[in-house]
Amino acid sequence: MNVAVIGAGWAGLAAAVALKQSGAQVTVFEASGTPGGRARGVTDLQLGIIDNGQHLMLGAYTESLALIKQLSPKRAEHELLLRLPLTLESADGSFRLRAPQLIAPFHLVWALSFARGLTISERASALRMAGAIRLKGWQALANQSVRALLDQYKQSDTLIRKVWEPLCLAALNTPLEQACAQLFLNVLRDGLGGTRSDSDLIVPRVDLSTLWPTVAAQHVTMRVRHIVRTLQIHADGVDVDHERFDACVLAVPPYAARRILAECLDDRNAAITALRQRLEGFDYRAIATLTLQLEKSWSIPVPMMMLDENSASHQYGQWIFRRPDHSDQVTVVVSDAPDLLKIDRDVLVEAISTQIRTQCQRHPNAIDTLPPVIHHRLIVEKRATFDARVGLHRPSTTTPWPRLTLAGDWTDTGYPAVLEGAVRSGLRAAKILLQNQTIHAETAQ
Ligand SMILES: Cc1cc2nc3c(=O)[nH]c(=O)nc-3n(C[C@H](O)[C@H](O)[C@H](O)COP(=O)(O)OP(=O)(O)OC[C@H]3O[C@@H](n4cnc5c(N)ncnc54)[C@H](O)[C@@H]3O)c2cc1C
Repeated sequence: MNVAVIGAGWAGLAAAVALKQSGAQVTVFEASGTPGGRARGVTDLQLGIIDNGQHLMLGAYTESLALIKQLSPKRAEHELLLRLPLTLESADGSFRLRAPQLIAPFHLVWALSFARGLTISERASALRMAGAIRLKGWQALANQSVRALLDQYKQSDTLIRKVWEPLCLAALNTPLEQACAQLFLNVLRDGLGGTRSDSDLIVPRVDLSTLWPTVAAQHVTMRVRHIVRTLQIHADGVDVDHERFDACVLAVPPYAARRILAECLDDRNAAITALRQRLEGFDYRAIATLTLQLEKSWSIPVPMMMLDENSASHQYGQWIFRRPDHSDQVTVVVSDAPDLLKIDRDVLVEAISTQIRTQCQRHPNAIDTLPPVIHHRLIVEKRATFDARVGLHRPSTTTPWPRLTLAGDWTDTGYPAVLEGAVRSGLRAAKILLQNQTIHAETAQ
């Protein structure tokens, strides 16, 4: 089978690898020059190779981790990934939650029971909510927002501000009031409801393209800097910009899929109309990542810490990460970011540096003062994730055409826009095409 994959993000490349392994000839079309999509390495003249955005993975990202292992079988996990037990700690040390080396779910019970910065009744209330949700099979009420879920379980303002809101923003990039509770619970189920290692936090040690997309790209025919404009779908094949393939995985974001499929979607068939409406139903939210090059090495007690945001004084930072193997660089992440590119850059960098200095100064472990910032790079990805709002209907992997499948974090994965959702969607898109191919072959006999 000769298959075209359009889009070399984590979804498209996961599909490409799976198809290739099943004996298909695979050609990947990618608009940019680098594989990885939204999770890719970017070369900066002063900082070296950084990421398009700081990414955090979980131990529960089983398919992504398996793919990384499969593509670099000779490299030990610790060479590529930094894994640490679940730890949430604020930069000023006022809040800390750490999971000890106990079997699940006792690691969590312990972490919540001994969390610093919460009162006894807040800890009990968080534990009650976790227990009740687990008993209910991680099911939210229909069309419930995360805010309504937290209200249902009577979570205090402090608990929400210190624990639930940062987790919701980090996972769904959508404010509590709009964020879909079921998607949030699906993330909690996989991260917190499984084994202890599922809740591990994982930070890539190499840039996100090197981690596996570049390796994957070596196994297939790549057509980089090729922006696909049209698809035509026939009974016996799919034309990608007028080049014939047996089948196709469309793994571009929904707004691009809508454009590429324009001719095919112009049909009154109910299934096609539903697909068009779903592709048009997405809104997007931004994430900003500020990488700071410091004058000298600097360290924080854990690889990532929470920052207290104060947008009135441009102190927008929400998380600070130390870059593994780059002790003189840190990244600051702002989820659901306003347009930081409109703020004077020196003012912004100064405000965020001050934010880090002031908050770290209060930490009980006496963190050294942040050294002067000598370079920086701000990347604002305006359509970083889809808006994971209540009531969003996402397209499934299958389409009205058996020779075309869809892949991407935005398909109906059950997850918000995350790497693991992208990878799983790609694997599923490949599997369905292979099954459909077998059916075609059997019918033809
Ligand atoms: C700043 C930032 C931070 C994030 N943080 C996290 C995190 O911490 N943890 C996490 O799990 N997830 C995170 N995410 C989300 C994660 O990056 C995405 O879920 C994932 O990368 C989506 O992969 P994808 O393959 O579905 O889509 P994409 O990566 O968007 O891939 C689509 C590809 O299609 C290509 N393309 C588009 N149009 C065409 C065309 N016409 N022809 C050819 N090619 C085309 C694009 O160039 C792109 O390479 C973050 C995202 C951003 C932007």
